[in-house]
Amino acid sequence: MSVLQGSVEQLLPQYLEGKDYSGIAVVADKNTRKDCYPRVKELLPKHHLITIQDGEEYKNLDICTIIWNKLTEVEFDRHALVINLGGGVIGDMGGFCAATYKRGIDFIQIPTTLLSQVDASVGGKLGIDFQGFKNHIGVFTQPCAVLIDPAFLATLPERELRSGFAEVIKHCLIRDRDMWNRIRRMELEEMPMQELINHSVATKKAIVTEDPTEKGLRKILNFGHTVGHAVETFHLEKDRLLHGEAIAIGMICEAYIAYSKGMLTETELGEIEEYIFSVYGAVQLDPQDFAAIAALTGQDKKNRGNTVRAALLNGIGDCSYDIPLTKKDILKSLKYYCGIL
Ligand code: NAD
Repeated sequence: MSVLQGSVEQLLPQYLEGKDYSGIAVVADKNTRKDCYPRVKELLPKHHLITIQDGEEYKNLDICTIIWNKLTEVEFDRHALVINLGGGVIGDMGGFCAATYKRGIDFIQIPTTLLSQVDASVGGKLGIDFQGFKNHIGVFTQPCAVLIDPAFLATLPERELRSGFAEVIKHCLIRDRDMWNRIRRMELEEMPMQELINHSVATKKAIVTEDPTEKGLRKILNFGHTVGHAVETFHLEKDRLLHGEAIAIGMICEAYIAYSKGMLTETELGEIEEYIFSVYGAVQLDPQDFAAIAALTGQDKKNRGNTVRAALLNGIGDCSYDIPLTKKDILKSLKYYCGIL
């Protein structure tokens, strides 16, 4: 898996050099078509552009059908290339379509959100939401390359940037106490983004290289995601939360669970909570929804049988996985998050 950081004007021609694709399609959403595609268009030979609506609600089988139809219509064979130009939604779904079209054609990721640059584009997890469950259908397939150009972030709305930053926080908490100590003393606006992107990519790459299909170690990347995904799924319809905003909630809840199991000290829990609340504020969750949110963790992909299993911090900078959680643990953590425990 080659993950390269630089300007797309330099990286894309470099990638294409010497390759003889029978066709090229760019998959974008309506925002990346407007804000990012103009730079990419100039660098490509004749190609097809597939534009879809933006947003998590479009990461589904119907949109895959549109993409597969288009690839079929333009008679792409197995020597064609798909370029996914967008955030995690485009990368996950465009990658899934390419990885399954005629049993798989080449694809590259050009991530354009902070979340996709520091996380979603690296590691080969592809997929779509199904029947309301997050990333329920999908595959592990590595892209031919990931080309990261931080300049794309210039047009990204501030709320999206903040959301993506949650995965940077996660990478520090699971693997790097020193970096955690650095970021928690800075404002988001003064963060050295390029350095943080490199740090996150290196952290994730090292983990997924060791365990590409999540049999063990890779599960630590799911810290914050057991409760976070359930909160995100619950709020897909009403008061939609962005992925990173939900993961921020999940990280506080799961830090509390780790504390209650004696894996984190009270001081560490306080540090995590204080910093995450300072970046994301406290989201108003309705206690009446807690049982439904806890029930959703039953569909988590890390579970085994009926047991919910999570990745929990074992001190800041260290993370364990496959820790069984009870529904009571999850309910208590949501109450803790809301200050009603
Ligand atoms: P997204 O793809 O929905 O993008 C967020 C918004 O930003 C969209 O409206 C998009 O059009 C817009 N946008 C993207 N780039 C832009 C740019 N440069 N300028 C202006 N607007 C731009 O969301 P996301 O946060 O990037 O990704 C979330 C998805 O990623 C979720 O579906 C999540 O499940 C997935 N994810 C996958 C992995 C993985 O390992 N595969 C990891 C984490 C998250």
